[in-house]
Amino acid sequence: MSPTAAHPVQSHVRNAITIDVEDWLSALYPQRPVTDRFVVNTRKVLQALATRQTRGTFFVLGRVAEKAPQIVREIQAAGHEVQSHGYGHELLHHLTPARFRADLEHSKKLLEDITGCPVNGYRAPAFSITTQTLWALDVLAETGFTYDSSVFPLRTRRYGIDGAPYYPHVLRTPGGHELHEFPVATYRLAGRRIPAGGGGYFRLFPYFVLRRGIRQLNVAGHPATIYMHPYEYNPGEISELPYAISWKTRLHQSLGRRWFPRRMDRLLTEFRFGSIRDVIAAVSDWPRHEHKPQPAE
Ligand SMILES: [Zn+2]
Repeated sequence: MSPTAAHPVQSHVRNAITIDVEDWLSALYPQRPVTDRFVVNTRKVLQALATRQTRGTFFVLGRVAEKAPQIVREIQAAGHEVQSHGYGHELLHHLTPARFRADLEHSKKLLEDITGCPVNGYRAPAFSITTQTLWALDVLAETGFTYDSSVFPLRTRRYGIDGAPYYPHVLRTPGGHELHEFPVATYRLAGRRIPAGGGGYFRLFPYFVLRRGIRQLNVAGHPATIYMHPYEYNPGEISELPYAISWKTRLHQSLGRRWFPRRMDRLLTEFRFGSIRDVIAAVSDWPRHEHKPQPAE
């Protein structure tokens, strides 16, 4: 990491930088085939991280790893952590526990065969571990996962759990297993929490919201977790696609891509980042939290 005079370092806490490796079109529209755009886009992320000598955690979708195993090897060769984003990018509330287990085991084996290293970290598609799908935490523990980064610590229209801890912690699953949980960073403003950890929020909110969100967590002694997607490094992608994309999706997904790489680079100079594995190794005293089983609906 190399702080500059214009962007002095804001904190010495090591934060986690995570990348969900997927193809934009097939992640949003699972019936579409995986295009190889994600390979070029992932190389841009690798270059950006190499420029700031930063290591991250790449949650790789099984479908894309199958299509281009060489990019998984490139991620690993660059010193990053390769973990699982599941296989088919189906939201967890559309799956039964048995189908989730099969998706998880398939993606784990695929990535382990490519990298030769154990896969024990997970991020659900669209943060879809909610109060309705807490059973997924037990399935994760039972299939050999030791950490998760799928609980969004506030309820939004599509996902999240209100009242879940907003900082990394060790959680006890409804079935009594333990997992490290890494919620995405949020910023407390006027008594409310707002997302500040990446993706669309990172593209659309002012930079100071992101910076203050991370600093606020760090000042309280907590690492922040941020996330991004390789396609956010490709501003022209959506207009290049040979498919009809609704104007609403086009607007929401395109906005901010133009300045995303510059923002991310600035963030990498102002804070210390590493992989989730690095953060787990750096912290010895973890706060604890218990997720109680939810009554059936
Ligand atoms: Zn995803």
